[in-house]
Amino acid sequence: MTGTGNPDGFADDTVDVVVIGAGIIGLATARALLDRRNDLSIVVVDKEGTIAGHQTGHNSGVIHSGIYYRPGSAKAELAVEGRVRMIDFCLDRDIAHEMCGKVILATDPGDGARLDELERRGNANGVRLERLSSDALLEREPHVRPGAALLVHDAGIVDYVAVCQAMAADLIEAGVSISTEFTVSAIATVREFVEVAADDGRAVRARWLVNCAGLHSDHMVALTGVSPPAAIMPFRGEYHHLRAERRDLCRHLLYPVPDPDFPFLGAHFTRDIHGGVHVGPNAVPAFAREGYRWRDIDLTEVRQLLGRRATWRLARRYWRTGAGEIYRSLHLPALVKALRELVPETTLDDLEPAPAGVRAQAIAPTGDLLDDFVFHDTPRAVHVVNAPSPAATASLAIGDRVAARLFERFDADGR
Ligand SMILES: Cc1cc2nc3c(=O)[nH]c(=O)nc-3n(C[C@H](O)[C@H](O)[C@H](O)COP(=O)(O)OP(=O)(O)OC[C@H]3O[C@@H](n4cnc5c(N)ncnc54)[C@H](O)[C@@H]3O)c2cc1C
Repeated sequence: MTGTGNPDGFADDTVDVVVIGAGIIGLATARALLDRRNDLSIVVVDKEGTIAGHQTGHNSGVIHSGIYYRPGSAKAELAVEGRVRMIDFCLDRDIAHEMCGKVILATDPGDGARLDELERRGNANGVRLERLSSDALLEREPHVRPGAALLVHDAGIVDYVAVCQAMAADLIEAGVSISTEFTVSAIATVREFVEVAADDGRAVRARWLVNCAGLHSDHMVALTGVSPPAAIMPFRGEYHHLRAERRDLCRHLLYPVPDPDFPFLGAHFTRDIHGGVHVGPNAVPAFAREGYRWRDIDLTEVRQLLGRRATWRLARRYWRTGAGEIYRSLHLPALVKALRELVPETTLDDLEPAPAGVRAQAIAPTGDLLDDFVFHDTPRAVHVVNAPSPAATASLAIGDRVAARLFERFDADGR
């Protein structure tokens, strides 16, 4: 058996697997690897000082049901499996969560057919849902604008940072090293080993690499010397909290019918497990991978983005939707107008600014936003190329899928 890595002595200590990224996907993957072989030596590295420092720690905290996704897609399969496993994990580890249900409300005359399609997808994916009559809707959500509505029973809320803390505790107990402040800046594949170096001179040598670097996953593929199959485009999601006295405006998760051509869900009301209600997130382009505010601008990144044909194709296709999102970001009354389509009583005074998140959204060279989860193999490595929402919900299932992929490629000696 190979040795267990430790943050101070990586160079001398070859491990079986190094995982880049201590977000929920990296941690779930390390767990899944150990579930298959508990004698594997694994090191998880992350550039931040804590685990779950980016997407996982800046999301809506929703346990998604699986209603939205095309039946047969990886998203549909892994969201549904992952949701069931996430609830079991929370029950097992005593992590606060609540399956409070979601109401999807038609707000536009064109929404009827889209709602029918969501109902069809939900049924095909085995999600428990029902149509709500006007009376039933108003009984459940007295403040909404009446309209056609679906109640999705299999949706809920959790704090994904708490989930990650529990996952990390299990991993550490099982002997896994989680090394923070380790910014991967070079990767070399030498015979049957992969060497991962940090910018401060530390290094880890492993038999296999798993790339779960989220917003930087394409950079990590490129560091292995392979051209990434898709580029990451960061999309910021901005939130507001509802003032405490106005939290009763929504009792479930309250969503509009999403635009089927856009992979984001439209401004919605979401309860959180700590008792608050937030609205958002929108989806505006970010000018840095970790561009949490408009003023976070990485000029190199922007230049690269503008230099890609895919960006211009994307801009041509989505300029109208994108312009609307940017307008609502910069002009709060426009956001309130959108929210009033769901809850007419919402006012500007009800909203307080809240921290934003940034999504890692992969774009194909054609300019298409990749909707499904995407994994990619290179010599000695598996890369999670696209793991957007509902990847937190689906994380335990995704981790299992990635582990299975890696195990198929293990050497004759089983590693
Ligand atoms: C605004 C928003 C709302 C969302 N809402 C939901 C929701 O309600 N429900 C849901 O299921 N999903 C939701 N998602 C999606 C979900 O949060 C993500 O899909 C999921 O967290 C992805 O996890 P990850 O581990 O791949 O990425 P991350 O959590 O981003 O983790 C990647 C890690 O890699 C590290 N890293 C990057 N580069 C390097 C490097 N060079 N060296 C070392 N480490 C590196 C980063 O520091 C980071 O910790 C939302 C996402 C956002 C942004």
